[in-house]
Amino acid sequence: MTSLVCIDGELMEPAAARVPVFDRGFLYGDSVYEVVRTYLGVPFHLDRHLERLERSAAALELALPPRATLVAWLKSALRAAGNPESYARLIVTRGSGPITLDPTTADRPRTVLLVKALEPYPAWMYAQGIKVSVPAIRRNPRAALDPSVKSGNYLNNVLALGQARRAGFDDALLLDIRGRVTEGSSSNVFAVRGGSLLTPPLETGLLHGVTRALVLELAGQVGLQAHERELEVADLARADELWLTSTLREVLPVVRLDEATIGAGAPGPRYRAMAERLHAHALDWARAAAADFWREP
Ligand code: PMP
Repeated sequence: MTSLVCIDGELMEPAAARVPVFDRGFLYGDSVYEVVRTYLGVPFHLDRHLERLERSAAALELALPPRATLVAWLKSALRAAGNPESYARLIVTRGSGPITLDPTTADRPRTVLLVKALEPYPAWMYAQGIKVSVPAIRRNPRAALDPSVKSGNYLNNVLALGQARRAGFDDALLLDIRGRVTEGSSSNVFAVRGGSLLTPPLETGLLHGVTRALVLELAGQVGLQAHERELEVADLARADELWLTSTLREVLPVVRLDEATIGAGAPGPRYRAMAERLHAHALDWARAAAADFWREP
């Protein structure tokens, strides 16, 4: 299993990878990023991730290298690492400059690509379901730092996850300042009630998850009616099933929410149906996309 780093197009061993301490990503979290994973070696829905990266960068007025350049660097890093399935983290910082908040003083964007073998979440989490807590810390309001921007500034979620882990839970679910459910620390959230699949609307202030969108698209195929709806903790606590979704998790069942047991306290049938459907979609997608992705430009 090989890990590789690519900085502005230059491939290197992780131990040799260096970023200047004056980089604004380091100093201020002044950066954007994406995490993608491969199926059959092909980065899953890469276009959707790159579109989100472009939206995040535009919101921060941060210039990105051209999309074709990012894709070429990603391909060469994946090829060089040669892992069966890969995790890739694509980070673009505003670059280096003098020590001042003023973003106009930055030199030029710096692109760091981390590629390693994909490490799936532990199998027990899917078999037994996980325990999630709602910590005191709230998600940033959209008017402060819009959670739909995937920036390097993740302290909000870091603190939430820390609070949950210290209290003995596997993950954290964040509310907005009005007490409405937003999302997990690095995932989106879904509740099943009867034949309905519920998830908070984007207007609540949350990351527009690629997996979230796919689960909404696939809901009808597993007999669920999808609704984007404002939710409170009590709505989740009395759900039949609760799931977290993300690129790395796919669909992960939640069986406890603080003191409340969800449904029967075990992963439910709707979870299994959606997990299978999503996985099948991913493999179909990868088979169809492989030739196009690897074709030389
Ligand atoms: N919300 C947050 C805050 C995240 O960090 C992530 C992981 N990128 C997600 C949701 C899930 O998004 P995706 O399905 O695109 O991985």
